[in-house]
Order: sequence, then structure tokens, then C-alpha cells
Amino acid sequence: MTLTRSQNLIGGRWADPSSREHRDLTDPATGQLVGQAAESTPADVDAAAAAAAAAAPGWGEATPRERAEALSTWADALAAHRDELAALESANVGKPILLARGEVDEAVDCLRFYAGAVRTGHGLATGDYRRGTTSFVRREPLGAVGLITAWNFPLMGAVWKAGAALAAGNTCVLKPAEQTPLTTLALGELSTGILPAGVLNVVTGGGAAVGAAVASHPGLRMVSLTGAVSTGTAVATAAAATLKRVHLELGGNCPVVVLDDADLEAVALGIRRTALVNSGQVCLAAARVLVDRSRHDELVERLLAAFAEVRVGNPAEGEEIEMGPLAFAGHRDRVAAFLASPGTGRVLQPHPEAGRHGDPAGAFLTPTVVTGASQYDAVVQEEIFGPVVTVQPFEGDAEAVAWANGTAFGLAASLWTTDLARAMTLTPRLDFGTVWLNDHLSMLPEMPHGGRKASGYGSEGSALGLEEFTQVKHVWVNHG
Ligand code: NAD
Repeated sequence: MTLTRSQNLIGGRWADPSSREHRDLTDPATGQLVGQAAESTPADVDAAAAAAAAAAPGWGEATPRERAEALSTWADALAAHRDELAALESANVGKPILLARGEVDEAVDCLRFYAGAVRTGHGLATGDYRRGTTSFVRREPLGAVGLITAWNFPLMGAVWKAGAALAAGNTCVLKPAEQTPLTTLALGELSTGILPAGVLNVVTGGGAAVGAAVASHPGLRMVSLTGAVSTGTAVATAAAATLKRVHLELGGNCPVVVLDDADLEAVALGIRRTALVNSGQVCLAAARVLVDRSRHDELVERLLAAFAEVRVGNPAEGEEIEMGPLAFAGHRDRVAAFLASPGTGRVLQPHPEAGRHGDPAGAFLTPTVVTGASQYDAVVQEEIFGPVVTVQPFEGDAEAVAWANGTAFGLAASLWTTDLARAMTLTPRLDFGTVWLNDHLSMLPEMPHGGRKASGYGSEGSALGLEEFTQVKHVWVNHG
């Protein structure tokens, strides 16, 4: 079985795009070609939506156990191809190999979680709320749905959405990011013979043509997007024309609030782990460090020392590479532009090999700390999505909370303190979908993940993520 396809998966068959065109995919560590993907058109989305709609009644009527067995078998197929999937993800995204293997493991676990969760539905109690009647609620699938994913965790992002959608009994049209479709296509390849034809359709191509066609398609009952805030607005606007349900997982720009009593060694290690993972291209990455003024200088010193230890390079060099390039050159240039004009801030790059790492054609950047930026500088207000943290000193808990909440985003925040009472007082004031105490970025399939404000709405993961892909029906039985 080859896992590299450059066609679309529609109705259980691999089909060339109607345009007959393809896009070259490159390894961001070297600029070398790693594959091609179909450059699809709205006509291909039409075909995929029709296939998904045709498969919806049969898949929706399968019992939870039958769907769970298919998802578990699919998970087994992923696990059996762990190394190939990790190598594909690493080459297409520039991801360190250990991180890529971890992503495959998380994807397998996520499918197994949804396979189990769909068999344990819960909700309102059936009851005789009027004499002579019985009422109960059914949770039903929506039908055919559209799923659009980002380029930073292509495999994981696809499984978070498709696992929930399919477990709940929907069929789908899945559109990966145009830069990094390889593992999503492999996911499609590994589904054939396990999922009935048309249950999972994969269509590759650009956002303006293919993504927009998914968002506006009258045959798709919901669209779930992971992407940038501006894309969320475009998708919600396009979806409004057909009043389809919208689920949005958007940008993060997450604060790390460090109180005066925090354990700074743990904080510095935590920031190193969560600001530089996947070269900082994580919606949940530690991005804005807000530290009590009395501890600012010590924390900056510790961060510079921690960042200096990070081995940056081509992931193909081996497991010791902790940080690879950015996912593509255009994005590297965008992050570099932030650093070239950091507002009032100073750019500190502690790495001994500051500047380029590895192949000069690679999209590398060095781990970076920006100090002295004001709350209103773009480097603080906007999501940089790279291996960069800003550090701002605050005075008093009220200022810390105001600055943490003081951007457009509301995805996640962390609070670092050894005082449980202070933590419990401040946690409700942090306006985010996730708050970690003395930790950052950790996720579990059992718990929901989702944003507030410009970070979007809806939940991914957990029983709540499964419910996103269902609709309720009240059944009233008059037996009086
Ligand atoms: P992006 O918005 O450019 O692209 C995301 C997806 O949307 C791609 O598949 C793209 O082709 C598609 N798209 C683009 N324009 C579209 C349109 N007009 N209509 C429909 N689809 C369209 O985002 P990106 O650069 O791939 O990803 C980075 C962003 O994603 C960051 O902001 C990051 O924070 C966010 N993200 C959020 C989460 C989360 O869970 N909240 C997770 C990962 C990434």
C-alpha cells in the first residue's frame, strides 16, 4: 500500500481533480519536492458532497457499536503505519520526528476515544412529563458535513474533526490545508476497505476555491474549520447563506501569567516546551509571557538560557532535533517581519547559531524572546505563530488579568503560582476556553478544547465535541 496519493478520495475511489492540475509540495527544511496534491475545484467539492450525502443514510443508521468497530479498525491501520505517517508528516510540515510520531499516537488514541464515547451517550432523562405521554430526546447525526483543517497539525487536526463527525454518524468532505495534505490523504487511503464508500471524502486544494466551496455548499449541513481568524469570518459568512451549523477553532496568542510566587525553573522549562514545539506553530503555544515585575529579569535570563539549549535543524538529521523549520517559507517571512518591527520591544535571540540553521534553502528561524513591548504593539496583540515569546512585566494581579484578557483572542491561558487560593480567585477572571494551572498546552481527548471571542466557538474533543456533530430531536409519544 502506498500512502502518497495526489488525487481526491470521492465515494471510495481515487479521482483526478476536474482541473487536471496539481500543486507541488516541498520539505520546508530543504525546499525539496516531497509530493504533489490535486488542485481541486468547486466541481470536485460537488462530487464529494454528493458522495457524502449518498452514504449518509446508511452510515447514520449503523449502530454505535458498528461505527465504533470501523473507527477502531481504522485506528489500528494508522497504528500499523505509524512510522510511515510520521515520516510523511515530518517531511511535509518540517516537524521533528519524535513530535510527528507523537502526533500519530495522539491521532490513534483520539479515534479510539471517539469509538468508545459514541457508545455511552447521555442527556436528559426520558420521562412522562404530561399524563398519558412519554417524551425522550434522540441525538441524531446532521448528515453530510464539511471539515476544513490547518497546516500545523494536519493528521491530528483531521482526526479530531473526522473522528467526532463520523462517530456521531455523519459523513464528511474533508479539506486539508493546501500546504500539508499528505497525511490527510494517507488517512483517506487507510480508510478504504474499512469505512463504507463515501463516508470519508478527501478533497485537496486552496482555501479560496475548495474551502469556500465547502463552506457555502448547500448539500453540507455543517462546516467545522481550524484556521485563522480571518478565515473563520469568511467561513461563517459563506455558511450563513445556507444557515449551516458552524464550528470554529481559530487563533490563540495564548498568555502565560507568572505570579511573584511561581517556581521560575518550572515556568522556564514549561515555556521552552510549549513555545517552541512545532516551531511555535501551535494555536495553544505559550506566546505572551506576563510576569510580576519583581521576577521579570530572572525569568528573561532563564528563558534565554533554556532557548539556547534547543537543537534547531533539519528533522531528517535525527531524533535529537528539537525544533525544525517553519512549515513554509512564506510563513517564515511573516514571522520574521514581526521581529523586524517589534514595536517598542527588543528582540533577543540567544541561540549560538542565531540566524539560519541547516540548509540555507530551509525556512528556519531561531528561538526568540521579545522584551519591552507594550500591550498595544502588534507583536503582543497579533498571533505570531512562530518560535517567539514576548515578555511583559506587570504590577499587581489586576493588571495581569487585564493584559491576559486584553487581546482579541480567548483560546487558552496558563497561570503559574504556588498559592492555590490565588489561583482559584484568578481562574474565573481569565476569559479563555482553557486555563492551565502550573502547566501549559496539555490536551486530553476526554476534555474539551475550544475558544472564546475571536478564537472561535464550539468544542473539539470529549463528549461535548461529539455532541457538536449531532442534532436533537424531541419525540413525544401520546399513549393516554
Ligand atoms: P488558514 O485560515 O489560512 O487556513 C486554514 C484552512 O482554511 C486551510 O485548509 C485553508 O485552505 C482554508 N481556507 C482558507 N481560506 C478559506 C476560505 N475563504 N474559505 C474556506 N476555507 C478557507 O490557517 P492556517 O494558516 O492554515 O493555520 C494557522 C491558523 O490556524 C492559526 O491562526 C492557528 O492559531 C489556527 N489554529 C487553530 C487551532 C485551534 O484549535 N483553535 C488549531 C490549529 C491552528
